[in-house]
Amino acid sequence: MKRSLLAVFLLLVLAPIGVISWLGYSNIKREQSMTAERYSILATKQLNEIDRLLQTRHLEEVERELNEFSNIHTLDADALRSITRNTRIVEQFFVIDEENAFLFPPESGELSRQEREFLETARELELPLVLRARGAETPGAAEIPGAVTGEGRWYTWFENEGVHFIYWRAMDNGYRTGAVIDRIAFISGILGALPDSDLTGNDEYTSRVVLTDARGDVLYQWGLHTPADNEKPVAVTALSQPFAAWRLHMYFDVEDGVPFFARYGALLPGIAAVVIILILLSMYFYREQAKVVADATQKVSFVNQVSHELRTPLTNIRLYTELLDNRITDKKDRARLQVVLSESRRLSRMIANVLTFSRNEKNTLTINPSEVVIDELIARVVETFAVILESKSVEVSLSFKAPSRILTDGDCVEQILSNLIGNVMKYAAGGSYLGIESAQGGDSTAIFVKDRGPGIPQGERKRIFQPFYRISNKLNDGVSGTGIGLSVSRTIAQKLGGSLTLERSGPGAVFKLEIPNKVPGGTA
Ligand code: ADP
Repeated sequence: MKRSLLAVFLLLVLAPIGVISWLGYSNIKREQSMTAERYSILATKQLNEIDRLLQTRHLEEVERELNEFSNIHTLDADALRSITRNTRIVEQFFVIDEENAFLFPPESGELSRQEREFLETARELELPLVLRARGAETPGAAEIPGAVTGEGRWYTWFENEGVHFIYWRAMDNGYRTGAVIDRIAFISGILGALPDSDLTGNDEYTSRVVLTDARGDVLYQWGLHTPADNEKPVAVTALSQPFAAWRLHMYFDVEDGVPFFARYGALLPGIAAVVIILILLSMYFYREQAKVVADATQKVSFVNQVSHELRTPLTNIRLYTELLDNRITDKKDRARLQVVLSESRRLSRMIANVLTFSRNEKNTLTINPSEVVIDELIARVVETFAVILESKSVEVSLSFKAPSRILTDGDCVEQILSNLIGNVMKYAAGGSYLGIESAQGGDSTAIFVKDRGPGIPQGERKRIFQPFYRISNKLNDGVSGTGIGLSVSRTIAQKLGGSLTLERSGPGAVFKLEIPNKVPGGTA
């Protein structure tokens, strides 16, 4: 099969396979991104749920406990110290008055080490101002003790080890009570409230939730899935106060749970079926085409073989007919013999064309240059048509102007000229005119073959030179031909280094054969 045809077949098969694969791939990608979005929404929802769990399960309990003692009834240092001592979650209790002075631990007086350290930190943090600025209390009557108003609030700050917590409330006399929370106890309580199993509870995937502090260090994690080093969390959320600096990260092991084939399996048989059908179809067409080409090749070689076989007997027929021609004296018999001769010449021309055509196809067409006088050659060829010209009453006009010897393949020029005159006999005999003119320049020689037949329609002028092309009109009807005469003639003309063209003319056709006076590559 021809390479270009094979390329077209491959393209026909590969293009749809490519399109199908691309569609499948983009479909999978779209579904993946939709799934990722779905999981991200799901994960965020679950993380928010964990946050809510922390707030309700543990924090509310802690706040209830803290609220109980923040409603103080005395400023007695010992009584207040006992709060710090007796409450596990409280590291240091404190009371600030409306003037921003610490009533407890008392700024003057005997202090424990812990109380001194607290006051130092409080000064650094400017705690009285910070807590006031954040509060909404209105200083009221300087009555001791005052009633607690407003919600409890959280204040957090960072020190080397991490986040520290203060829980405080405002009193309506402008006092503020609060407690520095024992962070270890507080955080372990918080973590204890977190779930320790895989939250998702879904067969489709396993997950892992990671809680990190402000520095990104892992505080706690749970879940069955172990994320890869470079795995990105499906969702990240910040916790609510007082843990706003902490982050919850959710990882899903989606692919584990839903294998590729389970997910896209439905698509695959369809794609596979289309691909298989395309391949089978292409194989079928390839085989059919190969068969057609093989058949055609066989036919051509058969015709070629037959033409070859016909040549020798035909030459003999012509030879003996010509011999007889000289001996027969009876006019009628001579005329009959002339018909045999002209028909055998016509057959010879056809065979010569078939052989030239197939040699050209096989690239074995060769040129054998020798010295030729074109005018003599024309006279010789016209002579072979004498009988038929006469029988069709065609007037012959010859103008010889190429008397010089040139170096070309005389047999080739004869073959072209015979084809052109043969065509005039076949298609233009109605014009009753055949004009042959020669012309010669320093470099080239031209032969014009003119007739007064129907001519060649404008749209057909190029096509008549294509192999097997015959103008399909009434004029051709009944006129036999193979459609290779002009194609072969042009090929030979080009082999001789010249050209065969159809000249623009009035009624009738004018063909011009132009050949160089010295065939390219030939020696004088
Ligand atoms: P064939 O004669 O075997 O059909 P050719 O290649 O010699 O093949 O010619 C191709 C076609 O060109 C012919 O079928 C005919 O229609 C047209 N043709 C050739 N010569 C002439 C002419 N002198 N006048 C009109 N038509 C012609």
